Amino acid sequence: MIERKLILLIFSALVFSCNNAKVAPGIQTLSLLEKSKALKLRGEKVEQSMLRKKDSIERLFDGKRDQSVKKNDEFVDVEKLSGNFVLDMKYATPDNFLKEKVYSCAKCYVRNEVAQALLNANKDFMRQGYRIKLFDCYRPHSVQKKMWKIVPNPGYVADPKGGSVHNRGAAVDITLTDLKGNELDMGTSFDHFGKEARHSYTQLPEKVIANRKMLRSTMEKHGFTTIKSEWWHYNFSTGKKFKISDFRWKCK
Ligand SMILES: [Zn+2]
Repeated sequence: MIERKLILLIFSALVFSCNNAKVAPGIQTLSLLEKSKALKLRGEKVEQSMLRKKDSIERLFDGKRDQSVKKNDEFVDVEKLSGNFVLDMKYATPDNFLKEKVYSCAKCYVRNEVAQALLNANKDFMRQGYRIKLFDCYRPHSVQKKMWKIVPNPGYVADPKGGSVHNRGAAVDITLTDLKGNELDMGTSFDHFGKEARHSYTQLPEKVIANRKMLRSTMEKHGFTTIKSEWWHYNFSTGKKFKISDFRWKCK
């Protein structure tokens, strides 16, 4: 009888310990699974909110976008492509080194391939808290001739014989603003023809050098190249393949 009781006791003890061994890890696994699900959900929510934030920054100033398919060499009105650029077309006002208004209205046109690269550069800048401000874009060849008549100096104006990359619709003159539209300090004004405007000029406040560097590195990342003498001028790297043009935009 005692033996039988002892066997029963040992058997019950074994069943109890086995159940415990099975249940405890089961509960642990379930709770870990729940935790990882909750973390994943939280991660997805954070990711979604970040995407929404990014999207809202990009849409911040965007009007109706022209999303029709275009050829690479087609002239595109940059403002119709995106409302996120700041336009300050200096040659549509007398506020330029010519002291004369040479564009009948303020429009920024470039070749479609250039416009797409510019759009990507601007998105990149916006993620950093800035926007591109445009001073000049495509410049009709006849306007280049007019500029040459006013200032026949190759140090200031490209000779219309060879033309400028602006005449090919593949160069832009730009600076940066913050998201509210305040211009960043680049050390000189646009079209300042002096050594201070050169990329190699370093006797400038650290902040100015950092601003120029940010402008340059982001533009280069998106396929643009610089010229030595003007911090504001950017050529599209393969822009010379486009022909010199005298296309005139409409003013309404
Ligand atoms: Zn230029």
